[in-house]
Amino acid sequence: MISMPEAIDIVLSRAAPLEEESLPFPDAVGRVLASEVTAPRPHPPFPASIMDGYAVRAADVPGTLRVVGAARAGAPLARDKSDKSSESDADHGRAVYITTGAPVPPGFDAVVPIERVRFPGGDDAGAVAVADAFSPGANVRSVGSDIQRGEVLLRAGDRVGPHELGIAALAGVAEASTRRAPLVAVLSTGDELADPFADSRLASAASSPDDLRPSSIFDANRHMLLACAREAGARVMDLGIARDDPDALADAIARAVDAGADAVVASGGVSEGDKDHLKDVLLGSFGRVAGAVHFGRVMMKPGKPLTFAEISRTEDSISVTTVSTGRAGDVTGTDATDAPEGKRRREKKTVLAFGLPGNPVSAAVTFALVVAPAVRRMLGWADPRPRRLQAVLAQDIALDKERPEYHRATLDWEASGGDFANHDFADAGKTNLPLARSTGRQISSRLTSMRGAEVLLELPRGPGSVAKGSVVSALVIRDIGTQGGLQMPRVRPTVVKPKSPEVLGAATSSAAGIVARRDDEKKVFARRRARAIAVVTHPFVFAKSASDLAREADVPDSDRAVTDEGNDDGAAVLEATRRFLRRAGVAEGGDAAWRVFEARAENGTSRRLAAAARAAAESSSASIVLIAPSGPGAVSSQAAVVAGTDLGFPGLAPRMRAALERAFAETTEGEDERSDEPSLDGEDSDAEDAIAALAYRESGFGINAGQVAGAVVASLPCTNCEEALREGLTKMLIAPREKWEGLVS
Ligand code: AMP
Ligand code: MG
Repeated sequence: MISMPEAIDIVLSRAAPLEEESLPFPDAVGRVLASEVTAPRPHPPFPASIMDGYAVRAADVPGTLRVVGAARAGAPLARDKSDKSSESDADHGRAVYITTGAPVPPGFDAVVPIERVRFPGGDDAGAVAVADAFSPGANVRSVGSDIQRGEVLLRAGDRVGPHELGIAALAGVAEASTRRAPLVAVLSTGDELADPFADSRLASAASSPDDLRPSSIFDANRHMLLACAREAGARVMDLGIARDDPDALADAIARAVDAGADAVVASGGVSEGDKDHLKDVLLGSFGRVAGAVHFGRVMMKPGKPLTFAEISRTEDSISVTTVSTGRAGDVTGTDATDAPEGKRRREKKTVLAFGLPGNPVSAAVTFALVVAPAVRRMLGWADPRPRRLQAVLAQDIALDKERPEYHRATLDWEASGGDFANHDFADAGKTNLPLARSTGRQISSRLTSMRGAEVLLELPRGPGSVAKGSVVSALVIRDIGTQGGLQMPRVRPTVVKPKSPEVLGAATSSAAGIVARRDDEKKVFARRRARAIAVVTHPFVFAKSASDLAREADVPDSDRAVTDEGNDDGAAVLEATRRFLRRAGVAEGGDAAWRVFEARAENGTSRRLAAAARAAAESSSASIVLIAPSGPGAVSSQAAVVAGTDLGFPGLAPRMRAALERAFAETTEGEDERSDEPSLDGEDSDAEDAIAALAYRESGFGINAGQVAGAVVASLPCTNCEEALREGLTKMLIAPREKWEGLVS
């Protein structure tokens, strides 16, 4: 008996890319390109404005310019009637209102953004003043700057997806040269089978289990395999259910061949029972089709009876011309003299025939392992084999004593990354691997074991079992993330030591995707989206909420100002953080993952917070970790940041750290931390500012380049979350250097 890898090799050696076919590009999504696509024209085709503003001649600014017309995207330049100047005027001094995407008119070479002009005589006065210099080409996309004429846009072998289609569309390439998609015909075999979606059943709303004959079952395989074939990129043909009768089988297969199928996929009837006729039919024992069987059993579980053959019509062939294509096993047939109307006469290679086992799980697994790769090869994929990855077993799995097993499993990255410390296999090499969970009882009739299955674990033959925590290889059989929960693999951040605090501050904030505008300290905005934002809060155990306090003091909620005791709860902090960051553009589009980590502040607050911050950063791949408002002084939070350095956050300079620790010790000595919130208030306020600035600025931790964003830790001294966040983030990123420089040892 051959092994599964051998079986895949044999199938792929018999499947070849199909002939080229041209089709409109929008229809080519999912196909593989047979030849490269080059750009017939440059993009942009004209010098285009990047901004809404005024087209100018760079040599004229700074200065005040006359507005002589308008150029809007899609419209020709409209000149003001009064304008008598010409392009060649030595004394240019003119500007044209321009919108993003509009052609920059001849004689102009730069665009001044609307935000950078003033209107000395009011908006309609026909003049704009520009205070800054702009170089030629500023805010202008030159001809061909995105795509050059003749540039290779797509390569032969590229698979056309939505983005490739977009590229072709942008370049104005209307037609794609691809490989033809194979036609895959699917049939089920078995006297016991009834169609669950038969018209008669669909017509009656009250279909019940009783409408099945006592010895019948519903045909699952055909519908499943048709969908599998479509998903693999094939066109499909439904051959229906064939009775367990050799002539019926031969007839169905002949219909597929007649229709020009490239592959026939049957299920059932390939094992050893006296009604299992498919192998004999494929061998040609029943006329009309004949072929060569390459293999009829594979050493695997599930799916042992998997059969693979190549077939063609025998002498009575009327519609298929077979010619030598240089492939061994090709069969020459007669001419297509009386082919049915409209049927294309074409070169015909042999047809691939797959006899999948009848048990639905076996059919699904063998389709994924051999039929789908064959379809992809015919489509022109360079590497049509299933993708392989590694995973960590979530539980012990007993091995089959006789055959290697393809065990269905779902993947979970979060569990392996998040609570990694809680697993007993927490060694560094495995931290980025997903956790593989078995889908349960693996008997080949139990199709629910395919539910959500993303991979087939490649388990060796027994005896014994594979232990939880082992790294196993797995073949991907569908898009990962289908089991709900995580949609994307996540990779844990790696803590790296900074080279210098300066570098760290910049690296961390840029990793977090946040930049602050130095000319406006009130503005913090995102350069790109944060991956995830973790918020660590620590509501004090005995503290009353701000609204409770306000109620007690008989103050209406609406009048409630910032109170100096108590904390908002985790949900409030999270909500405020969201609002703030959304406004800053950090979390636009809602793709940031949010998590709240609450640390109870009973004792050892700072350490608990630091630990929580670290856990948050690690388990959520956070770009930003906020240690959220903790009361008026925020001392615990700042101390947590300090303590965090012990836990791996690089950060405060030793002297600052000592000062903070001293301050913290003094304010908490002998006191119940809960009854009297310690504060740095009253201490040297410059030092306090500096401490805060440093904490904000430097208490991040680094990044594993390119993979994750790293983390920024901020402690935010206020009970008004939103204010505090604004303050904290601003300070964190743009604290003036002189505030803290002298204090760094
Ligand atoms: P076979 O390979 O024909 O011996 O079938 C093996 C098992 O799979 C039997 O229990 C069949 O009833 C079942 N089976 C075969 N074809 C299908 C199908 N299309 N849908 C659901 N079960 C099937
Ligand atoms: Mg059967």
